[in-house]
Amino acid sequence: MSERVPFRDLRRDWAEIGTEIRTAAERVLASGRYVLEEEVDAFERAFAAACGARHCVGVGNGTDALSLTLRAWGIGPGDEVLVPALTAMATWMAVAGVGARPVPVDVDERTLGMEPQSLEDAVSPSARAVIPVHLYGAPVDMEALGAVARSHGLRVLEDAAHAHGARLNGRPVGTLGDAAAFSFYPTKNLGAVGDGGAIVTDDEALADRLRILRHYGSQERDRPALVGVNSRLDAVQAAVLRCKLAHLDDWNERRRATAHRYLDALSDVPGLTTPSWPHGADPVWHLFVVRSASRDGLADNLRRGGIESAVHYPLSAVDTVPFADWGARGAAPRARRAADSVLSLPCHPHLTTTDEQRVIDCVREAVPAPDHSGIA
Ligand SMILES: *Cc1c(COP(=O)(O)O)cnc(C)c1O
Repeated sequence: MSERVPFRDLRRDWAEIGTEIRTAAERVLASGRYVLEEEVDAFERAFAAACGARHCVGVGNGTDALSLTLRAWGIGPGDEVLVPALTAMATWMAVAGVGARPVPVDVDERTLGMEPQSLEDAVSPSARAVIPVHLYGAPVDMEALGAVARSHGLRVLEDAAHAHGARLNGRPVGTLGDAAAFSFYPTKNLGAVGDGGAIVTDDEALADRLRILRHYGSQERDRPALVGVNSRLDAVQAAVLRCKLAHLDDWNERRRATAHRYLDALSDVPGLTTPSWPHGADPVWHLFVVRSASRDGLADNLRRGGIESAVHYPLSAVDTVPFADWGARGAAPRARRAADSVLSLPCHPHLTTTDEQRVIDCVREAVPAPDHSGIA
């Protein structure tokens, strides 16, 4: 029996760059300066530069990056925020967390990103902002979505938690809307060794307000200007992230190579739909997601072959307990169909070619052979 192919094993990341990470973390531990200060500033500058944005504000996690931006825009009870019906629950929770109402927008049948006409259809007079998600690492069609947003005066907050380093028509995500929220959860393309998040924006007033909000509403000690929270990017995480940022392009390139090997080997498998992305998008393959009507059977077959897979996401948010009573049921048929058929295959910078070949062979074996009998 050959070895298991784990969906993601962060020990392989450690095996490659553990020495660098240890040095970065020790520098902070020895410095006695653990909250905000220079390590966080240095990472914020580096990440803003990597995104081609003017400002970066580090916060405690990706969910806070989303919700603090909404708060900074004064969005709260009585307001609506448009969100994709297929995304991580965090996108929805961030909206609900500020007291606003998340309104589902159905996704594109092919790319599974937020669909522009569905956005148009979902806008109401209470709508204040839209959160397009660069799902699975593929930039959404921001040109079309941005046009709809502009025509209704909506602010655009990119949820870039899957898409560190992805580009659309040569422009990095993070600069395609009014602001962008990133998560540095350990398994993301740029991952910390714990929680972390950041907002990237060109809007200086927004960045200033976020710096105040994340730190008890205060710029000056004990003299708060706003009601804020405590959601700071940890200095140890900032040091680790700065170290890992130097590897981001290389690691994304390795994800891309894996994805293209899968695409080459799996695109002709009958009954299996391989990923699509909008024209001009350069995805970073946070996840490689196929679709199959017999998704659960395929996952079982992979498991028997020692290969771990995952489902992103098994339910549209409109079918989850907290949002079931929000009048959203029945909406978003494409997102709901996708939730029943998506399967994420292992795709990360530390897959070996042997791992990849095993995934490919196993998927090809698991999907029923085409019927050439000529009988319909
Ligand atoms: C991970 C994730 C988040 C939230 O990030 P946390 O750091 O876990 O709070 C938000 N949106 C999407 C799409 C995510 O995948």
